[in-house]
Amino acid sequence: MEAALTKQMFDVETLRKEFPILKRVVNGKPLVYLDNAATSQKPLSVINAISDYYCNYNSNVHRGVYSISLEASDAYDCTRDKISEFINAGSASEIIFTRGATDAVNLVAYSYGLENVAEGDEIIVSEMEHHANIVPWQVLCKKKNAVLKVIPVNDKGELIIDEYKKLLNNKTKIVAVVHISNALGTINPVKEITDLAHQRGAKVLIDGAQAVHHMPVDVQDIGADFYTFSGHKMYGPMGIGVLYGKLELLEAMPPYQTGGDMIISVSFKGTTYNEVPVKFEAGTPNVEGVIGLNKAIDFIKSVGFDVINSHEQELINYATEKISEIDEIEIIGTAKNKASVLSFVVRGQHPMDIGIMLDTYGVALRTGKHCTEPLMDRFSIPGTVRASFAVYNTPEEIDIFIDALKRTIKALK
Ligand code: PLP
Repeated sequence: MEAALTKQMFDVETLRKEFPILKRVVNGKPLVYLDNAATSQKPLSVINAISDYYCNYNSNVHRGVYSISLEASDAYDCTRDKISEFINAGSASEIIFTRGATDAVNLVAYSYGLENVAEGDEIIVSEMEHHANIVPWQVLCKKKNAVLKVIPVNDKGELIIDEYKKLLNNKTKIVAVVHISNALGTINPVKEITDLAHQRGAKVLIDGAQAVHHMPVDVQDIGADFYTFSGHKMYGPMGIGVLYGKLELLEAMPPYQTGGDMIISVSFKGTTYNEVPVKFEAGTPNVEGVIGLNKAIDFIKSVGFDVINSHEQELINYATEKISEIDEIEIIGTAKNKASVLSFVVRGQHPMDIGIMLDTYGVALRTGKHCTEPLMDRFSIPGTVRASFAVYNTPEEIDIFIDALKRTIKALK
C-alpha cells in the first residue's frame, strides 16, 4: 500500500474521482452530500473488492477445504489483523466482527452486562449518547434492577466532567460514553473519562462510531475496556462493525449468540465454545462486509489522518464562518474540541422543512433528532439541521449549501 498523502500532495478533486456517487445529479443539481455522520460514501476500491469477492471467490469462510473458500477465509481473517493494527489493539483476538456499533454495544450489554451487573449497581451514560448507547443499558438496568445515571452536557455541548466525577462511586459498574458526538461533533476526553472510571473499578465502553475515520484511535492509550464502531461510517460497507474488547474480559464473557462456528464441539450432553473472537461470531459472517472494510481502512490510511484532519477542520471552520453570517441561525454545539459536524436551527422554522427545501438544490443533509432525543430535549429543540463533512467535501460545496440555505430561509419567511 502507498504511503499516506502529504498536505501538499492532497488534491480533493482527484480524491473525489474515487467516489462514483459524487458525480450524481439530484433534482437537476449536482449532488452535494453532507450527511456523512449518517453514512459515508464508498470509494471504488471498496465497491470493487466486494464485486471481486462475488465474481471470483464467493464461498463461506472457515468451513471449506477447497481453494476459493480458503481465499475467502484468508481475506476475512487478515482483516482482523488490519483492524487490530488500525486501532492499536493488543492482538487480533480482541477484534470481534459485528453488524455495526449498535450490535457491538448490545453484545457487551447482554454478555458482559448480564453477567456482571447486579441489583443496585449503577451504569453511567451521557446526555449526548446516540440511542444505540442508551437503550441497551436501559434494558439491562431494567432486567437487573440497576440504576442508569447520566452525565449532563453544558450549553456548548460539552460533557460536564465535574458532574461525572460526582456520579462515580463504588457501585458504578459500567461507563458508556461516545467518543465524538454524532449530533454536535463534540470530541470527548475519553482517556480522562476512562481513567476516572477505572479508579472506581468500573469498566468503560467507548462508542467510536464517529471517531475512527476522523482521528487516529489508540485503544490501549485510551485504556477503554470496549470500543465500538461501524464500517459504513468509515467509507466501508453497511452491516459490518467492530467490537474491540480487552482479551481477559472477552475470554471471561459468555457468548452473546450461539450456533455454528462459535463452537468446538456439540453433543446433546453439552457444547464447548470456541475461543475468542470466534466465540462471539455465531453463524455465517458478513464476508463481503469484512472484505470491504479492509479496503476502507486502506483508503483511510492512503489519505492519512494528517490530511483528513486538516481538510475536515478547514471545512468545518469555513462552514461555521459562513453560516454565522446568517441572522436566523443558531449553531447547536460549539465545543472547543469539535469534529466536522455542524448542527444548527433556523429560528422559527422546523428542521425538516429546511432539509426538504435544501434537497431541491441537490444538498443532502440530515434533519431531526439524530437518534439523540435526550440531547435534543436538553437543548429544548425538536431537532437540528446537521451538515457533516468528509474528506471528499469541498469549500465550493459549502458555498452551494450556504447559498441554498439563504434562499430557503428567504422563501420560508
Ligand atoms: N453511535 C453513534 C455515535 C452513531 O452516530 C451511530 C449511528 O449514527 C451509532 C452509534 C449506531 O451505529 P450503527 O447504526 O451503524 O449501528
